[in-house]
Amino acid sequence: MRRLSTGGLNDETSQPRGTTEGGAIVTSDVADVPKLVSELRAAQPAWENLGVEARARWLRRWADWLLDNQERIVAALAADTGKPVVEARIEFTVPVDLVKYSARHAGQWLRTGHPAPPNLLNLMKKTTVAHRPYPVVAVITPWNFPLGLSLCDAIPALLAGATVVVKPASATPNSVIAAIEGWEQIGAPPVFRVLHGPGSSGSALVEEADFIQFTGSTEVGTTIAKRCAERLVPCGLELGGKDPAIVLADADLDLAAHGIAWGALANAGQMCTSVERVYVESAVYPEFVAKLSAHVGSLRRGADVGPLVTEDQFDIVRAHLDDATAAGARIAAGGDTDRGSRWVQPTVLTGVDHTMACVREETFGPLIPVMPVENVEEAIALANSSQYGLSASVWTRDVRRGRAIAARLEAGAVNINDSHANVFFFAAPMDGWKQSGLGGRFGGAESVLRYCRPQTVTAPRAPLPYQRYLLWFPYTGTGAVVLGRVMRALAATGRRRWGW
Ligand code: NDP
Repeated sequence: MRRLSTGGLNDETSQPRGTTEGGAIVTSDVADVPKLVSELRAAQPAWENLGVEARARWLRRWADWLLDNQERIVAALAADTGKPVVEARIEFTVPVDLVKYSARHAGQWLRTGHPAPPNLLNLMKKTTVAHRPYPVVAVITPWNFPLGLSLCDAIPALLAGATVVVKPASATPNSVIAAIEGWEQIGAPPVFRVLHGPGSSGSALVEEADFIQFTGSTEVGTTIAKRCAERLVPCGLELGGKDPAIVLADADLDLAAHGIAWGALANAGQMCTSVERVYVESAVYPEFVAKLSAHVGSLRRGADVGPLVTEDQFDIVRAHLDDATAAGARIAAGGDTDRGSRWVQPTVLTGVDHTMACVREETFGPLIPVMPVENVEEAIALANSSQYGLSASVWTRDVRRGRAIAARLEAGAVNINDSHANVFFFAAPMDGWKQSGLGGRFGGAESVLRYCRPQTVTAPRAPLPYQRYLLWFPYTGTGAVVLGRVMRALAATGRRRWGW
C-alpha cells in the first residue's frame, strides 16, 4: 500500500503525484484494501466518542481549509473533467455549503431518544434509542461530478461518526485527492481517506466496508447491491436516469426553453438528473422547438458547455446521435462532433420516438430529443414508460396543475418550472425510483441517520426483585398468565374481545 501526499497537483498529466508514507491518500493494490479498512475500523471508536459537536467542528475547519484552497482544487477539477471553470466552482461550493447546513443540525438529528412505554410490559423501563454509526463507509463515485458527489456523501457519514474511504473514478481523482489532503493538513483524526485505484479496488472495498454508498451506472450498482445482499451490509445507490420534461401548452415558453436547455446541457449533459427527453403539447411544439434551438445554438463552446469527460462517453453519445439520424431524426440545432477533443455540440433532435436509443437509454451527453404529444395524458404515459425514475420536470403557468401531474409521475423528484432544483435542496431526499437507485442521498436528518444503526437500551426505572419480572419463569400463578390477559384486554376494542 502506497500512501500519497500530493504536495501540489500535477496539472499536465492529471495523475496524482505522490511521496511514500504518512498521508491520507492511498493508491492501492486490491490486496491492500483489507488493511486500509482495518486501519479505519481501528480509528473509528475514538471518532465516534468525540461526540457530534466536536466532529462538526473538524468539518467546519476543513471547510475553511477548502475555501482557502479553492482555486487549486477547482483547477484540478476543471483539468480532470474539462468542464468550464464556472461549473467547477459551483461543484466545489456545494459540499462546503453542505458542511455548513449539516454541521448546524447534526446534533439535533443524532440526539438520543427516550420513547414513552408503548404498553404495560414496559411501564417500569426507561428506554434509550441511540444512533450508532456503521464503522467504515465506502463512498464510490463516478467521473461526472468527482468532487461534489464524493464529498457530499462523505460529509454526513463523518458527522454520523463513521470513518470514510472515498474511491473516486480512476479517470478523475485529483480534485478529490486535493480536498481530502486538507483533512490531513488541518490535523484532523485519521478517519477520512482516499483510495485511488481502478474499478477492482472499488469491488474490493465492497467486500470489506460496512456501508457502501455508490453513484454510477445501473450495471455496476446492481452488481454492488447483489454483493451487499450476500454480505448483509446496506448500500445506497444513485444510478442512471432518463429524465423527462413535460411542456404544457400554457407554459412560459421562453422560461421552458432556457430551463430545459440548462437542464439538458449543464455539465455537458453528464448528469444523472439531466433532461434527456422532452414532451411538448402539440399546440406549442413548433414555437418551443424554435426557441429551444435558437438558445442552444447560441451557447459558447468552452465557456458554457465543455467537452465530454471520457472517450468512452463520447462514443456512447455519438452512437445515440448516429442511431437517431439514421432512423430519420432531424437536427434542429448543433450536431457537430470531434472525437479528438471529445466535443459534442449541444444538439436538439426532432422527429424522434421511443424506438431510438437516444429516447430509451441513458445518453449522458448534450443531446435533447424533443417530441410532440397530443395531450398531458400522453405526456405522462410516455414519461413513465422508462426503466428509470430519477427526476422529472413540468413546465406550466398553472403550478397547481403541475403538482397534480407530479403526483402521477414515477420519479423520485419533480421540479415545476425548473431543472435540477431538488439536487441543491439538501433538506429533501434525492432518491431514484425504479432502476435509478435505492436510498439515494440528502434528506435532512435522514442524510446522517442512514449511516447509523439504531441501538435500543432498556433499563429498569428502579431496582426490582426477580419475582417482579412478570414474564419470567415459572408460568404459574399471577405473573405471565395474568399479564397476558391484561395485555389482551388493553389491546381489544370492546369488552367482548377481552377474552375473560
Ligand atoms: P461506473 O458505474 O462503471 O463507475 C462508477 C464508479 O464505480 C467508478 O469509481 C468506478 O471505478 C467504480 N467501479 C467500476 N466497477 C466497479 C465494481 N465492480 N465495483 C465497485 N466499483 C466499481 O460508471 P462509468 O464511469 O463506467 O459510466 C458508465 C455509464 O454509467 C455512463 O455512460 C452513464 O450512463 C452512467 N453514469 C451515471 C452516473 C450517475 O450520476 N448516475 C455517473 C456516471 C456514469 P473506475 O472509474 O476506476 O472504473
